[in-house]
Amino acid sequence: MKALVAGGGGFIGSHLCEALLKQGHWVIAVDNFLTSVEANIAPLLKNPQFKIIKQDVIEPLTLSEKLDLVIHLASPASPNLHSKISYHQLPLETMLVNTTGTLNLLQLAEKNQARFLFASTSEIYGDPTISPQPESYRGNVSTTGPRSVYDEAKRFGETLVSYFHRYKKLDTRTARIFNTYGPRILKEDQRMITNFIVQALSGKPLTVYGDGTQTRSLCYIDDLVSGLISLIMTDKLDGEVVNLGTAEEHSVSEFAEMVRKLTNTKSKIEFTESLPEDDPKERCPNLQKAKALLHWKPMVSLEQGIKKTIEFYR
Ligand code: NAD
Ligand code: UDP
Repeated sequence: MKALVAGGGGFIGSHLCEALLKQGHWVIAVDNFLTSVEANIAPLLKNPQFKIIKQDVIEPLTLSEKLDLVIHLASPASPNLHSKISYHQLPLETMLVNTTGTLNLLQLAEKNQARFLFASTSEIYGDPTISPQPESYRGNVSTTGPRSVYDEAKRFGETLVSYFHRYKKLDTRTARIFNTYGPRILKEDQRMITNFIVQALSGKPLTVYGDGTQTRSLCYIDDLVSGLISLIMTDKLDGEVVNLGTAEEHSVSEFAEMVRKLTNTKSKIEFTESLPEDDPKERCPNLQKAKALLHWKPMVSLEQGIKKTIEFYR
């Protein structure tokens, strides 16, 4: 099959391109490297079945190739206020890539009668009032808060996808991705696990925001990629919206302690006074739908995944 992967130069995108190529597919990555580096895909350029187009997907794409799959992963993804590549620093880019960019890519899929996958996020549940979160949960999201540029853009992206499915009969799938980690997240991105590992390896204090009781569930990149591939390749899932992640919930302090232990660092944990505004207090996916539809479940333990990630940053 021939797949177009928008955001194919990023953390998740480059791992997904690699996995699709390994399965024998043809891959066209489209990326403007707004929040990633070309080194992520440099090893793939040797493969004659891979090609990169450097373009902003906010502009319409014209391609001569016939596509079977269009996968939309392009978007800033980090919520960290201190990161220069977070969606707080790139608010218009974030809103536009998930709305205008999604529309452009849906139109490209329609033209090719290709299957479409949209990378949505657990952030569409906001600061959830139920846990774990099933796909039927409609969320607790601020339309005007600091995270709204990302959360609401992803929600509108989901609406565009469901419109193309309902009225234009396009074969679409939406992945609500929960916190995913692993090699290739840039240090500058400053998401939690990356920050903790980089801090631990350089002997600096691990910065836990607030009192560290807020929870997250972390999915290792290889598990996420196999979930995404199942979601896009399995027949008769038109219009489905599926959570992908890991349902093992820990507090942020526990993650910091794990990183301290596995890096064997002398770094201490430093707590900041308060949580950033609208930082969700808990987050954990209900994975029943993913297990039933995709016959998929995450396989990499937290300890294995963190160890592999530590090796990368070392
Ligand atoms: P990333 O920043 O590493 O990758 C995003 C890629 O999109 C980058 O290569 C970036 O340059 C590219 N991009 C951004 N705007 C673009 C534009 N206008 N045109 C072309 N390319 C553009 O982040 P990631 O963690 O790999 O996230 C990938 C997708 O998964 C995003 O849509 C994100 O919202 C979603 N997601 C990620 C997570 C996670 O935990 N990593 C969780 C939920 C959702
Ligand atoms: N966090 C932290 N220290 C850091 C980075 C993040 O305590 O150096 C916290 C953050 O406030 C949030 C959790 O870790 O509660 C996960 O943050 P991340 O940036 O990975 O993404 P989020 O899950 O908030 O989208």
